[in-house]
Amino acid sequence: MSKRHLKQRDIEEAASRVARAIYEADESEGEVSGYRLYGVPRGGIPAAYAVARELSTWYHVTMVDDPAHAEIFIDDIVDSGTTSDRYMNAYPGKPFYSLFPPDPDWLVFPWEVGDTDASAEDIPTRLLQWIGEDPTREGLRDTPHRFLSAWAEYTTGYKQDPGALLKTFEDGAEKVDELVLVRDIPIYSHCEHHLAPFFGVAHIAYIPDGKVLGLSKFARLVDVFAKRLQVQERMTQQIAHALNDALAPRGVGVVLECRHLCMEQRGVRARGASTTTSCLLGAIKNDAAARAEFMRLVR
Ligand code: ZN
Repeated sequence: MSKRHLKQRDIEEAASRVARAIYEADESEGEVSGYRLYGVPRGGIPAAYAVARELSTWYHVTMVDDPAHAEIFIDDIVDSGTTSDRYMNAYPGKPFYSLFPPDPDWLVFPWEVGDTDASAEDIPTRLLQWIGEDPTREGLRDTPHRFLSAWAEYTTGYKQDPGALLKTFEDGAEKVDELVLVRDIPIYSHCEHHLAPFFGVAHIAYIPDGKVLGLSKFARLVDVFAKRLQVQERMTQQIAHALNDALAPRGVGVVLECRHLCMEQRGVRARGASTTTSCLLGAIKNDAAARAEFMRLVR
């Protein structure tokens, strides 16, 4: 989706179209002398002011804070239609106008222009205020910026495809039919329930069937899934299935041992407790000897 930056002129023209539509819909022959407009937060608010300016040629226009007091609703753009549906269901019969219909481009309004990171910095700044801190004090001045770049790094896994990472396996392992185990691969992730860190190690084993993977790939594979919001159980499954899909090995075994700060630093305060999860596939699951060997090695 490409971005299209709207100019003030585009807004004026769109607002003029909406005002004209409101005027033409008025069949009161001059009975109606004014309208109360409600701008849908947040983008609908500047949109409503733009429409009000055009509409003031014909009517006395008031902006209202409470949608229940509105006669006309204004939004900036119809995205999915869920917003307009919500208002039209809550206030049936009251017209809902948008400056712009749905657009294949990503429209950037003049009130949205600027460094996107600058507006994103509102998020950590509001958090600092919420916990009772003063975001303007010396030590915190660059914290919102640092917070965002840290979170960008914590979540790079969303942009990475584990399938592409595992594409370059090595052939010529026909003779290898022994269990391969990589132990103690570090994990640093965040739980999706609290956005709190959890960390620990992964042990990954597989029994090749013609395809083997360079050892460095295991750490990278773990990272692809760790650098997302996670639950430990799902991450264990994801690692195992990604390997299984890429290598079609005879068996896969993945064990994760992690400490969760959301359980240690808060809540139940289970200090030092580590959570173990596992996912076994193929021969490592079904073959008693292979399974026993895997269990012995990861212990
Ligand atoms: Zn948590």
